[in-house]
Amino acid sequence: MTTGSYPEPGPAAALDGNAVGGLLIELFGTEMTAALGTCATCGARRPLAETAVYLRAPGAVMRCRSCQSLLIVVARVRALNCVDLTGLAALDAPAGRAVPA
Ligand SMILES: [Zn+2]
Repeated sequence: MTTGSYPEPGPAAALDGNAVGGLLIELFGTEMTAALGTCATCGARRPLAETAVYLRAPGAVMRCRSCQSLLIVVARVRALNCVDLTGLAALDAPAGRAVPA
């Protein structure tokens, strides 16, 4: 998904990753806001709770707080969630927990 229709970054409209905590549980089957995401663009590594989240799109967009690159895009198409994780170089579970495959 590389259309240009994603919301532009802007601090006023951004929520934090806790706003999509329920959606992340739906997608991954476990609590993921404490999981560490590594930005594929700038290498910043921080909990998903600290991402910049935009919900104005038909779905959810999570951007890097450091460089504003797209990290995770979730679009709901009919009953399916389409998830783009290509903005993440890595996604690591909090210590002691595994990220489900
Ligand atoms: Zn970044």
